[in-house]
Amino acid sequence: MHELAVAESIVGAVREKLEHAQVRRVLVEVGRLSGVVPDALQFCWELATSGTGLEGAELEIVRLPGRGHCRGCSTEFDTNDFITLCECGSADVEVLGGQELRIREVEVV
Ligand SMILES: [Zn+2]
Repeated sequence: MHELAVAESIVGAVREKLEHAQVRRVLVEVGRLSGVVPDALQFCWELATSGTGLEGAELEIVRLPGRGHCRGCSTEFDTNDFITLCECGSADVEVLGGQELRIREVEVV
């Protein structure tokens, strides 16, 4: 399961930085085009943190919208699809946002 690997890498990154801290909450930003399903990530969180220093820590997920820029007509638009197609019909779309997957905040006790 992809989300389990993601959850484990979040746990790993937090532990690396805050080795001895007791973590209460982790806030992550997940873009709509990142391929990560928030519900699945939330589901895997407990499993990934079990037996680690993050056991019992809460995972909070903030969703970020997808954003595309059409090279054909220079329009910028919101998109939540993996296949981004501009209204002008062009598929030559540069993804500007929505692929984020990052830790924004870690709350320690
Ligand atoms: Zn266009």
